[in-house]
Amino acid sequence: MDLLEYQGKQLFAKHGLEISDGRAVTTVEDAVAAANELGYPVVVKAQVLIGGRGKAGGVKLAANEAEATEHATNILGLDIKGHIVHTLWIEKASDIDTEYYASILLDRSAKKPLVMFSLEGGVEIEEVAEKTPELLIKRNVDPLVGLTKDEALSIVREAKTPADVEEGVADILVALYEVWIEEDATLAEVNPLIITPDRKAKALDAKVSLDESALFRHPENAKLRYTQGEDEQEAAARAKGITYVALDGDIGILGNGAGLVMSTLDVVAQAGGTPANFLDAGGGSDAQKITEATEVILSNPNVKAVLFNIFGGITRCDEVAKGLIEAFGQLKPTVPFVVRLDGTNDVAGRELLEQADLPNVTPAKTMLEAAQTVVALAKENS
Ligand code: GDP
Ligand code: MN
Repeated sequence: MDLLEYQGKQLFAKHGLEISDGRAVTTVEDAVAAANELGYPVVVKAQVLIGGRGKAGGVKLAANEAEATEHATNILGLDIKGHIVHTLWIEKASDIDTEYYASILLDRSAKKPLVMFSLEGGVEIEEVAEKTPELLIKRNVDPLVGLTKDEALSIVREAKTPADVEEGVADILVALYEVWIEEDATLAEVNPLIITPDRKAKALDAKVSLDESALFRHPENAKLRYTQGEDEQEAAARAKGITYVALDGDIGILGNGAGLVMSTLDVVAQAGGTPANFLDAGGGSDAQKITEATEVILSNPNVKAVLFNIFGGITRCDEVAKGLIEAFGQLKPTVPFVVRLDGTNDVAGRELLEQADLPNVTPAKTMLEAAQTVVALAKENS
């Protein structure tokens, strides 16, 4: 789960990193009030879950109220690579002498955390890594030891950091590592990490990703999820604990198990159709979960037909059938359904469906037959 810059900075501050004072706002009026309160100059910063905001016009210095008004007006609503700006972070501006780069991430091949540090900050680090890899220092950390101050100093010295700021930069690396470990982050990046004219080191930007699977340990962090601009169906599905990804086709898909759902998408595509979503109802889905999942699929107005592809293992086909029957009772769908039930309790499931005699439900025996049927029905219905 990615955090907005200002949310990342708040986690930084919690672990002792120095950040500039600022306010998160959503209107021009509040932006100007925040700027007046902080004192000029301020930086008006777009809060979106994408990098390169500066280049896209999403980061502007304001020297007075008129400029703060102008920048807040221009940046709110700005489209940065498909991300619309709804929130601004108004921050007391810093004087910059030099811009460095620092990050901690998970090195999956080494199975260890990785510290990356470079004096070439403020620019895209991928470019540094490609053109001048010797200027990007990479160091794995022993997770049982953690990042010690000595190790951090050694990284900073390897990069040939000026001696008078070595300590300050090493302290930031150590604190950043603490953020990464204690908040269960998968990425903690600072670009730029600046040196001010009075030779202090400071985090001017923050890019933090948190491990979704560890959010249960951090209920306060789970609340930071940024949902503005998020797909409505995806948000509704997550609220119900359903794994759902919106796609741009017209055939709603429900399966159990990520692998089966992926192959269902492939077979539908092979049959000439385009899936409207990926939905994994998961193992052991009961009738209620199936009903809820059906509701999510049908909430997409593009859906012209729905395919249920269930291979019963832990999931029992009779439960799926009950869920579908319940969904028909509640939602009264107008689009055709194709249902393939195979595996545990499939005979009972098919019998239930037959007895219920749902309108517009076609049973299918094989996955390919199911895909061909649903593609044909979707075409008829569009
Ligand atoms: P990004 O473009 O999305 O990475 O956004 P950043 O937060 O990194 O800001 C982009 C650039 O704006 C930075 O590299 C700085 O050069 C500049 N910038 C950001 N904050 C300040 C500030 O407080 N003072 C000054 N002088 N420049 C800033
Ligand atoms: Mn940046």
